[in-house]
Amino acid sequence: MRILVIAETDGVGLRQGSRSAVQFAREVAAKNGAELQLLVIGYDQRAVAEQVAAYGPVLLADAPTLEHPIAERYATVIAQAANNTHASLICAAATTYAKDVLVRAAGLLGGTMATEVVGHEWSGDKLLLRRPMYAGAVTATVTLSGPFPTVTVRSSAYPAAEPLPAPEPVTAIDVDANLIPVTTQYGGLASKANTRPDVTEARIVVSGGRAFKTTEEFEQYVGALADRLHGAAGTSRVLVDAGIVPNELQVGQTGKIVAPELYIALGISGAVQHLAGMKNSKVIVAINNDPDAPIFEVADYGLVADVREAVPELLDKLA
Ligand SMILES: Cc1cc2nc3c(=O)[nH]c(=O)nc-3n(C[C@H](O)[C@H](O)[C@H](O)COP(=O)(O)OP(=O)(O)OC[C@H]3O[C@@H](n4cnc5c(N)ncnc54)[C@H](O)[C@@H]3O)c2cc1C
Repeated sequence: MRILVIAETDGVGLRQGSRSAVQFAREVAAKNGAELQLLVIGYDQRAVAEQVAAYGPVLLADAPTLEHPIAERYATVIAQAANNTHASLICAAATTYAKDVLVRAAGLLGGTMATEVVGHEWSGDKLLLRRPMYAGAVTATVTLSGPFPTVTVRSSAYPAAEPLPAPEPVTAIDVDANLIPVTTQYGGLASKANTRPDVTEARIVVSGGRAFKTTEEFEQYVGALADRLHGAAGTSRVLVDAGIVPNELQVGQTGKIVAPELYIALGISGAVQHLAGMKNSKVIVAINNDPDAPIFEVADYGLVADVREAVPELLDKLA
């Protein structure tokens, strides 16, 4: 039995979210005795793969045609690797990348898939997976039957795996360029430079909502507090829809799911779709000028105040 963990890397090593997927895989392997392998895909990735090997043996698919993460190409490589290694389980972190790539791989493999898994248990030797549905209103327990069960794991639900005492080997696998679809070509990447940590990986997330009317205002209050706390900046959907904040910062049902140690909600009402993305944060602080705002129902600490007064005061005190 083999578990294939699809490694997401950041150009240096394994991303935090993938470490949670490794933790899930280790827990499953501890029970059913499966062997764990991590799959690194890309071009000129040997050095990165050697860093990833701190978490387990690595299969490296390295080829010029894999320089950019084009979903149809990566999915084909994953499907080939799963077939060749007879993987009994394929898993990855529940990220935008996995939404794009892993579902296609599962489709190519004709297998079954459970996304956004937040827990697991065993019924005899059957793996039961818990996953939220209806914006977290219910939690379903599912089992995957059929070949190549494929799972994405919420990083907020599993701790990041610790590195092994010594690195494992990196094994290059053949990439048959003739089998890689090239109907989609890479055009370019349009992304704002972000010096802050990713919202899904930060220990502290400061999010701002409709209280902020412009990008400058968002930066002046939300960005400044995030920077002071060495945290990530997040937002509600209204600021993304208004074009004030880029959508990779959106927290919620249709955004990112986060569970940091500290989540600070500034001028966010606490709509159910926003709560679906952050209510599992360890400590929630809300600042809102409406004492009846629903965010206070989930907040550990609440302050009824104008964010334009409270945030500068907080910044002063933190200095
Ligand atoms: C299918 C679907 C999916 C969705 N997915 C998401 C999602 O992923 N993420 C998400 O966030 N939303 C999502 N939404 C939208 C969601 O329903 C809410 O509209 C949104 O979360 C509201 O954002 P907000 O709290 O910033 O704005 P509002 O609800 O307008 O709240 C603004 C809050 O700021 C307070 N405020 C205003 N000015 C100040 C001030 N000066 N000082 C202090 N407080 C102030 C107000 O009292 C209010 O509570 C989704 C909706 C749908 C239908």
